[in-house]
Order: sequence, then C-alpha cells, then structure tokens
Amino acid sequence: MTRTDILVVGAGFSGAVVAERLASHGLKVLVIDKRPHVGGNAHDRLDEHGVLIHPYGPHIFHTNGLRIAEYLSQFTEWRAYEHRVLAKVGEQLVPIPINVDTVNRVYGLSLTQETIGAFFESVREPRSPIRTSEDVVLNAVGRDLYEKFFRGYTRKQWGLDPSQLAASVAARIPTRTNHDDRYFTDAFQHMPLEGYTRMFERMLDHPNIRFEGGVDFFAIRKSIRARHIVYTGPIDAYFDHCFGRLPYRSIEFKHEHLKDVTQHQPVGTINFPTDYDYTRITEFKHLTGQTHSGTSVVREYPCDEGDPYYPVPRPENEAVFKRYEALGKEATETSFVGRLAQYRYYNMDQCVGAALKASEGILQRLGLSQVHEAEGSTPRVRPAPSAVPTTEPTRVDVRADAANATAAGTLAAD
Ligand code: FAD
Ligand code: UDP
Repeated sequence: MTRTDILVVGAGFSGAVVAERLASHGLKVLVIDKRPHVGGNAHDRLDEHGVLIHPYGPHIFHTNGLRIAEYLSQFTEWRAYEHRVLAKVGEQLVPIPINVDTVNRVYGLSLTQETIGAFFESVREPRSPIRTSEDVVLNAVGRDLYEKFFRGYTRKQWGLDPSQLAASVAARIPTRTNHDDRYFTDAFQHMPLEGYTRMFERMLDHPNIRFEGGVDFFAIRKSIRARHIVYTGPIDAYFDHCFGRLPYRSIEFKHEHLKDVTQHQPVGTINFPTDYDYTRITEFKHLTGQTHSGTSVVREYPCDEGDPYYPVPRPENEAVFKRYEALGKEATETSFVGRLAQYRYYNMDQCVGAALKASEGILQRLGLSQVHEAEGSTPRVRPAPSAVPTTEPTRVDVRADAANATAAGTLAAD
C-alpha cells in the first residue's frame, strides 16, 4: 500500500497546478499519468528532426487573467506571439475571424470600418433567442458566410451540425468590424520560451512532488491511500460510466516534417472549412519562433474514437454531466478539476484558473489555507538557456504588460 497526502491523477495543466500549490503548502503529492510524460495535451517535444512540436495539436497561450499569467511566470520566461489564422475559401486564403478584409476579399468589395456594419446588417439573419452555434453565426453574418466558413468546419470538427451544438462553441470566434487579423485579442499572448514541457518540469520540480508516468489510476486506485484525490481525467470514467458515456471528441494528428523547407505557410494555422478531410494545418515554427532548415506541420482529422480531447457542448450532454457532477459532490474524498473532469471547453488559462481555485478549496478543507508556503518552495529558478534556438526571445513583465494593456484587451486581476 502506497501512502501519500494527495494523489493527483493527470499531469496536465489542471493536475500540475494543483500539485504545485499543495506541495508548496507542505503536502506530499504523488502525480500519476497514463501517459509517460508531463504536460497532458499541452505537452511538447522535439521531433526526430529537432523541431519543437505539439504532439497533441497546436497550443497557443493567451489570457486576460493577470493572476494566471503571474502564476505561470514563476516557471517560465515567455516569447511574445500573436496567432494568426487564414481560412481557405475557394482558391483564396482570407483572415478568420471574419473582418473587413475577409469580406472585401471574398466578395470583391471595398468596404471600410465605417461601412461594414451596414453590410453585416444587410446579410444577417436575426435570431432570437440564440441557442445554437448556427444561431450565433447566422445572426452575425448571414447564410453565405456561414456556409463558407462555419458549417463544413463545424461538421468535420464535431461530427454534428452547428444547429446541434451550444451557442458557446461558435461564439468563441468573434465577427470583427475592423482590420484586426489576430485570432485572439487577449492582453497577454505569449508562448513559454523553452516550451510547455520545460515549464511543467519546473512546476513539478519540488521535493514534495513525485511524478510517475505510464500509470493508470483505475489499475492502482485500490493500492494507494491518500488524504485527498485530485482527478483530472474524464468524469464518467471515474464513476464507471454509470449514467452512460459522456461524448468526448477526439482527433487524429498527422505530423509531417518538410526537409529543407524553411516556411510552409504564411501564418501559424490555415483552416480548411470545406473540401478537405482535415480541419486545419499548423506550422509549429510560427508558434515557437524556432529557426531550422526544415519545418514541421500537423494536420488535424477529428474523430469519435481515441483519446478524449473535447467535451461536446450541447444540452443533452450537459444534463448527463450534471448527474456525474452531483455524484462528484458526494464523493468528498475527490476533487474533479479540468477540461475532462469538469466537462468544460476550457482553454489552458481557464484550467489554471480552475486549478488555483480548487487548490484553495482543498487547502481550506485540510485546514492549511493560512499556512505560509513551505520553506524552499519559492521563489523558483530562472531558466537555463533554451535548447531550441528561437527568434525574438522576450523577458516579460506581466504587471508592466497589464499597465500597458490597451484596447486590445485588459488583464484582469482574476
Ligand atoms: P489534460 O491536458 O487532458 O490532462 C489530463 C491528463 O490526465 C492527461 O494527460 C491524461 O493522460 C491523464 N489521465 C486521464 N485519465 C487518467 C487515468 N485513468 N489515469 C492516469 N492518468 C489519466 N488551449 C489553449 O488555451 N490554447 C490553445 O491553442 C489550445 N489548443 C488546443 C488544441 C487541441 C487540439 C486541444 C485538444 C486542446 C487545445 N487547448 C488549447 C485546450 C488545452 O489542451 C486544455 O485546456 C488543457 O490542456 C487541459 O488541461 P487538463 O489538465 O485539464 O487536461
Ligand atoms: N469554427 C469554424 N470555422 C473556423 C474556425 C472555427 O466553424 O474557421 C468553429 C468550429 O465549430 C470550432 C469552433 O468554431 O470548433 C471553435 O473554434 P476554435 O478555433 O476555438 O477551436 P479549437 O482551437 O478549440 O479547436
């Protein structure tokens, strides 16, 4: 029988943050993951050609949460990166989210920021109430742009029509009445300078934390005695699917290295809303700033079978989740944290926020909320030089960024 104060199941953002917070308050933490590595879906590594890739799909860090950016800055330096995406529509590559230039290029118009509003007004199909992702897009830009940019992509990505998905899914993509072609407008848009895995290694590099990879919780749960469990896997699996399986969408990632090609595409990601089996191609060197004589790309083929990557936001799934959530509240020995356990379409920063909140709750329950961080736990390390040569490394002062945050977005304290 192994004994520990805390057992954390999953070494992704959610599990790593809780582990670090609890270890810093003097608790012994055992972190396990089915996978042999840390980082969960945000894990990155060098491929066999020496290019830094994200094996589980492209991960771009962005947040408006000052507390979240500050917290992670203990474990990494950052490189400024603003993600841009072009969509292939017919033979053209045009900006997505849809902005003034997108509309002008698709229809051969010369609209301006002043006249685009009237254009959208003339094509939109007003919907009220707005319940589904179809409602969101038709209400904003009308049927033709919906068909060109959203319908096919969404059907590929989810295996469902936008009319079958909650409004929150398509609402992730705004409609712009200006020329801003960035995918995100958050105040803080930076990538970890030496990659996500290095950042996770530093988070978990604590005398109170032990990580064991290649360990499935369900194979060892009876042989571990813990004061508390933090579970970040799919919540329905924890309860043996007693209310039926919660759908999680998966993706097959097809990675490719292009030798002696310094740049494959003009921006980080190209979306393929129609005509192709894959949804998007991402070229990692744009994200990481790495310099290399070749380049590596990934194509994403969504599917039902495989690792669970996306909760599927729609009312019937939410209803099943609520039943599992109620069971979870009764299981007071366990906290359910993260994208899979909370069945929420969380970005990385939202997982960090949820994990910080969960950590405070656990510390309170264990009567440790007032205890100062154990000696030797902070401040932690500043990085050794990067193994990956990059352009434009930046030393980021999160608070200065917050002070400078402009119309682009505002860093909020929580
Ligand atoms: P995970 O990273 O899934 O970690 C859970 C871990 O638990 C996994 O490693 C799993 O192996 C382990 N586990 C599960 N069950 C068990 C078990 N029984 N025993 C042991 N271990 C177990 N977010 C952004 O902010 N920006 C992006 O650009 C972005 N791009 C994304 C692209 C893709 C293709 C995907 C799928 C997600 C993307 N995200 C992005 C979301 C981001 O991946 C998540 O928000 C975040 O990584 C979730 O962290 P987590 O710790 O909750 O879950
Ligand atoms: N979407 C779309 N066309 C696009 C981009 C996004 O239809 O070109 C829709 C699609 O349903 C997608 C959702 O908007 O799943 C959210 O897109 P996002 O880029 O945020 O997805 P993620 O990066 O989380 O896979």
